[in-house]
Amino acid sequence: MRRGVSPLRCRGPGGPLEWPGRRCRHVVQKPRMADLLGSDPPLSTPARPLVKPGPMSTQRKLFVEDIQTAGKRVIVRVDFNVPLKDGKVESDKRLKESLPTIKYLKEKGAKVILMSHLGRPDGKRNPDFSLRPVADALAALLGSPVSFADDCVGAPAESAVAALKGGDVLLLENLRFHAQEEANDPGFAKQLAALADVYVNDAFGSAHRAHASTEGITKFVPQAASGYLMKKELDYLGGALAEPKRPFVAIIGGSKVSGKIDVIKNLLPNVDKLLIGGGMTYTFLKAQGLEIGKSIVENDKLDLAKSLLAEAGDKIVLGTDVVVTDKLDFKARTVGATKVVSIKDIPSDWEGVDAGPDTIEAFRKIIIGAKTVIWNGPVGVFEIDASAKGTIAVAEALAEATASGATTIIGGGDSASAVKKAGVASKVSHVSTGGGASLEYLEGKVLPGVAALTNK
Ligand code: ATP
Repeated sequence: MRRGVSPLRCRGPGGPLEWPGRRCRHVVQKPRMADLLGSDPPLSTPARPLVKPGPMSTQRKLFVEDIQTAGKRVIVRVDFNVPLKDGKVESDKRLKESLPTIKYLKEKGAKVILMSHLGRPDGKRNPDFSLRPVADALAALLGSPVSFADDCVGAPAESAVAALKGGDVLLLENLRFHAQEEANDPGFAKQLAALADVYVNDAFGSAHRAHASTEGITKFVPQAASGYLMKKELDYLGGALAEPKRPFVAIIGGSKVSGKIDVIKNLLPNVDKLLIGGGMTYTFLKAQGLEIGKSIVENDKLDLAKSLLAEAGDKIVLGTDVVVTDKLDFKARTVGATKVVSIKDIPSDWEGVDAGPDTIEAFRKIIIGAKTVIWNGPVGVFEIDASAKGTIAVAEALAEATASGATTIIGGGDSASAVKKAGVASKVSHVSTGGGASLEYLEGKVLPGVAALTNK
């Protein structure tokens, strides 16, 4: 079960993506309003202002340490959307990320009520998506029992909560067994709220969705505070955007320009350099009249790429060379023959799959000279070793920059996997736990789950 598919990715077969021989393999997502409206907003105005101390700032939001929790019933929205295999938790990374908040509340003697979604059961009870195995895995991590309620509302939840003593932990069954969760139904939100005295949101990965457990519930509790993980995410991402130490460099990669337009527009006025890599490179190269062979391209974004380049001056850095292949079989994870060519010499029947060595070196120099770095999206088809060099090199450069005192932030699922693949996950400042949420944050959007927290 893989989650975190960015809502901004491929629009599926028939969409504007042109890439001979390779079909979109991402889940087709609901189009966004901007996509439905068609035209892109003017380049001179970023999609929305950068996150300054405003509705999203943790400086203004209640933090779990700011509220009275001793002896209280505290309902905590966590992100326990973990992969399950044969009825067992396959990776407990997300559980570990939530431990600081849970342990803090336990120590305070709070009655801790945890709620989460798991997968997409589409509003129906489905044992394949039960959170029960998660209660056992969490108990093992905490070294103390975690009780489980068969439903997140109604009699099972109410009686389980009534049985709690100070310091106890209870996990409620999957919120998404009820369609009202994603519909942000006020009655359902009220039922969740009635289980507790105060509410804590520690699920950054779900904060970009206005659901009953992330947004609706805040209307029915006296206090809604952030947990440790939520605060850490916002401090890093928000801090970088609001007051970056300079030089401030962003690396934006991934398959398509269309998925990252709002990020590019939001970051461009604020960064010192914006390095563009990955599949979207070729739309920028074609916009400059270069031959790109069979490389991935979005022909309906050529004008946009042109105006971005004109607007950005020398802020946008594209590579000077690329690795091309005569055959890419993504499904089999193989490439045919490969060679390094200048961006001016891409053969008409080959396609670009990675950054070339000169590009890697140029990117590296810029990254290690930076004081703040944000990275979103791989700079090549990093899932295949033969075309992963550029992405691995970016990850290593981030680790190098971190060692020299830079703040380095990785936002997004694929970049996070790349950092792991490069073995430097612990050598960067922050790897965001929320793919879609961090992308929307970088786009300058207000995350409903954050905006709804109580102001100090
Ligand atoms: P992140 O998860 O870090 O935010 P992303 O997943 O949003 O990044 P996507 O737009 O989904 O970024 O693109 C990631 C995909 O882009 C990867 O699967 C990678 O193989 C692909 N990609 C990178 N470079 C190329 C390229 N030159 N040609 C085709 N695909 C590419």
